[in-house]
Amino acid sequence: MKEETRVTQIGRQRSTGRHFVNTAIHRGSTVLFPTYEQFLESPTLGRHELNYGAEGTPTSFAVEQAIAELEGAAAGFIVPTGLAAVTTGLMAVLKAGDHLLIADSIYGPTRRFACSTLMRFGIDVEFFPPELGAGIKSLFRPNTRAVMAESPGSLTFEIQDIPAIAEVAHKHGAVVLLDNTWATPLYFKPFDHGVDISIQAATKYLSGHSDLLAGTIATTAALSDQVYHQLHDLGMTSAPEDCYLVLRGLRTLSVRLERHQQTALILAEWLAGRPEVERVLHPARPDFPTHDLWKRDFTGASGLFGCLLKPVSKKQLAAFLDEMRYFGMGFSWGGFESLLIPCNPRSSRSSTTWEEPGQLLRISAGLEHPDDLIGDLTEGFARMAKAA
Ligand SMILES: *Cc1c(COP(=O)(O)O)cnc(C)c1O
Repeated sequence: MKEETRVTQIGRQRSTGRHFVNTAIHRGSTVLFPTYEQFLESPTLGRHELNYGAEGTPTSFAVEQAIAELEGAAAGFIVPTGLAAVTTGLMAVLKAGDHLLIADSIYGPTRRFACSTLMRFGIDVEFFPPELGAGIKSLFRPNTRAVMAESPGSLTFEIQDIPAIAEVAHKHGAVVLLDNTWATPLYFKPFDHGVDISIQAATKYLSGHSDLLAGTIATTAALSDQVYHQLHDLGMTSAPEDCYLVLRGLRTLSVRLERHQQTALILAEWLAGRPEVERVLHPARPDFPTHDLWKRDFTGASGLFGCLLKPVSKKQLAAFLDEMRYFGMGFSWGGFESLLIPCNPRSSRSSTTWEEPGQLLRISAGLEHPDDLIGDLTEGFARMAKAA
């Protein structure tokens, strides 16, 4: 089955009788047991067996099944946010006294969680340069238990050599967690590249419409019980409407991603030719430093990339950003609408540095026509020049 077909098939209930195309939204806390005998079996019921609302509903079971199939994983889990997927995944594999290696280009709130909560619980956290590859070997200690990667990196888009990192990690008995939100499993297959726990902010491309928060975790068979118990210890349950919306988003994921990819590449090429632009940060462009790794491991690029401007005044930057017609200024990404935000990697790096004098922009290419987006940017650059 091809990927485009797979996203239309996964997580659907089959019946030989008449039935609706889509899985129903099941709301509920209490599940009734018809007999005393069956009630006694409650503690022994497995995953995806009706037991109690906190254990899931047919709607969450369907999306979890879909995630497992999409990722090619032994198990899939749905959680309330992308950040919850990260924090739960990390907590599932770490204990006091362990050493954790995290890519220096990691998503900001993941860094904050590691430096606050994980450190408070006695975990030793160390950030590694994202381009280190197999060189990560020198950072391993006897108590290194996990590597948390994100490729490409948040804001700066470095591609990490995941197979090389996984090889080293596994040799040391450590597990590899990957935040794969940018590529989704359609464009990067974590489990074919040695990842043990794959995480996505379903808030982004999986749902695709900027109307919900959700996260997914997919694991190998060896780690699925650990993650499952961690989720339940933390009381992580997702609302059925959100599970339904993630399933619905999946149906159009392949066509949306294709368009996001195409538009982002058009915008990146256009921006790279502009005199206001210092350089474009896009892993699928041959001039990007870790482009070769992207080419080796990925089958596509999504719609998020960076654009480094030449230095301008704050007033000029405001003139550029303030009156955009189509580009919105706001957090998150992966929706149908294009977004454009200023960002500053300088404040969130410790083993690497960001010394660029110009302003870095993060662009999420939406589903508008690229000509309209280019028109918007053209007018923005004209306002910027006028404000000089
Ligand atoms: C947005 C994001 C998250 C967190 O997702 P939320 O649903 O907003 O909590 C995690 N990782 C990456 C790379 C993200 O971009």
